[in-house]
Amino acid sequence: MTEPTDLPRIILVPVGSVNPRLLEFLILTLPDTFKMPCTLGPPLLDVSQAYSLVRQQYYSTELLARLLTLNQHATTKILGVTEVDLFIPILTFVFGEAQLNGPAAIISAHRLRQSFYGLPEDEALLLERCQKEALHELGHTFGLVHCQSFECVMHRSHSVEQVDLKRNSFCPMCAQTLAHNRLTLR
Ligand SMILES: [Zn+2]
Ligand SMILES: [Zn+2]
Repeated sequence: MTEPTDLPRIILVPVGSVNPRLLEFLILTLPDTFKMPCTLGPPLLDVSQAYSLVRQQYYSTELLARLLTLNQHATTKILGVTEVDLFIPILTFVFGEAQLNGPAAIISAHRLRQSFYGLPEDEALLLERCQKEALHELGHTFGLVHCQSFECVMHRSHSVEQVDLKRNSFCPMCAQTLAHNRLTLR
């Protein structure tokens, strides 16, 4: 079945090689929160343009620019999902980046894995962290800014510990703003 392309929806775009289970999990969980369908888009395989030899990381703003060129519809949100380590020049790393009220966002699972910290892999924890970061970055694309509430998924997080402290949901205030801003997409 094909859906009309102008209906609000989220398209997941794998950036580089990405664990399919991670994509499947996001496709299952995101529609619940955002009340719109979420489908898998064609992957963005070549990430070499965004690679920094000096930092040995990938410049997320560059990848975001590539994702923005894929978005043809004002009602569509594109979420890039990657396993490479992302940075922006002023920070050591980022879990993700988004355009406030814009059409695209990107998240990285790289530093959400227990193995990155020398701990045994925990897939359930990884999926939960990725879900939170996806909600957070997509929240920005729906016009949400950082929230003061420590439990709200829109709270800013600089470490995995801070990601774990948040819930995988929006606080009532952010949920209300999200619902309001979502309506303006139609
Ligand atoms: Zn943020
Ligand atoms: Zn909030």
